[in-house]
Amino acid sequence: MQAFALIRPQTLAAARTRVQESPQDRVLRAGGVDLFDRMKEGLERPAELIELASLRGEIGDRLRGFTSSAAGLEIGALVTLAQLADLADLTQHPELAGFLALRQAAGSAATPGIRNLATLGGNLLQRPRCWYYRDADLVCLKKGGKTCFAVSGENKYHAILGGGPSFIVHPSTLASALLAFDASVELAGDTERTIPLSELFVGPRTDPRREHSLAPGEVLVRVKLPPAPADRRSAYAVVKEKQSHDWPLAEAVVSLSLEAGVMKSVRVVLGHVAPIPWRSREAEAALEGQKPDAALFARAAAAALADAKPLKHNAYKVPLAQGVLRDALHRATDLAMPT
Ligand SMILES: Cc1cc2nc3c(=O)[nH]c(=O)nc-3n(C[C@H](O)[C@H](O)[C@H](O)COP(=O)(O)OP(=O)(O)OC[C@H]3O[C@@H](n4cnc5c(N)ncnc54)[C@H](O)[C@@H]3O)c2cc1C
Ligand code: SF4
Repeated sequence: MQAFALIRPQTLAAARTRVQESPQDRVLRAGGVDLFDRMKEGLERPAELIELASLRGEIGDRLRGFTSSAAGLEIGALVTLAQLADLADLTQHPELAGFLALRQAAGSAATPGIRNLATLGGNLLQRPRCWYYRDADLVCLKKGGKTCFAVSGENKYHAILGGGPSFIVHPSTLASALLAFDASVELAGDTERTIPLSELFVGPRTDPRREHSLAPGEVLVRVKLPPAPADRRSAYAVVKEKQSHDWPLAEAVVSLSLEAGVMKSVRVVLGHVAPIPWRSREAEAALEGQKPDAALFARAAAAALADAKPLKHNAYKVPLAQGVLRDALHRATDLAMPT
């Protein structure tokens, strides 16, 4: 890894100007988990890392802050995964029970040591794990080349939904959970803007070289979540090859309200199956207005994967993702899984 300078600006303007002057070799650093990985792998050789944690004043408060009110949750981009996994302790607010799946997702990602460093913003903006992308000697589509090596290569961990021309799976566990709670993100660029989280992600058909819509030097400041009603239920389910120090093979997040025994405002999001966190409107339509039922859950899971187009080595992900989704639905509704 080449030597680099650590820059500690105190104002947002100083941080942004620093990156904008030379975006090729100056990069924002949050926890640094993914960034240092990319540098160690030789994918990037920035001359300067600009520390977001050094920002002070009102912007520093927003980046580190965590507020829960009648208007919902506002979570600073520098809040760590460990803090998110412990939401209730962080604020002592009982209404946070409605965001159970977010806590479960944050507590499941990576390892305890990584969760202490990794931040919400960095997690959403980390780069993909595709092993061809992570090999500095290979120039695939994502790095400006002409080929996606996963198409004819080792594609066990790649996308089964929404893939092409690149077949990455989106790496962020928090993205799936936040999408299921209708999150939006507050961004500070030339102007400040707040956009739905779904608009942060860029699919490979739009541009295979990037995964998000941030401009160079634009800072993800906060994630905002509308309030969860008292009857909100949610669950996160995941399958990994190893139970620790590993990324998911497939994950599912379900969020819904149970009104008089009927499911309302259902959100279904699948992770690690597509280049973006994959909201399944087909599954949501199958579930909305219905009573929880094991056969219905199986049909909804089949609907969610109906358009799957597996590559040579990842057809196993179709039944796996269906099973993970059924697991999340059963847990969110307290309905026992059929044996
Ligand atoms: C063994 C292992 C297992 C893992 N398992 C999982 C898992 O199961 N699920 C999962 O989701 N992740 C997993 N990860 C990945 C890990 O969670 C991420 O690398 C981490 O969350 C990145 O956060 P960070 O704060 O360290 O980001 P950084 O590395 O600091 O930043 C990542 C990128 O985002 C940019 N950035 C960061 N913050 C901002 C901001 N506020 N505004 C604008 N740009 C910003 C940086 O410039 C950089 O390009 C795993 C990692 C390891 C090593
Ligand atoms: S899936 Fe994407 S990152 Fe991986 S080889 Fe293909 S183009 Fe590159």
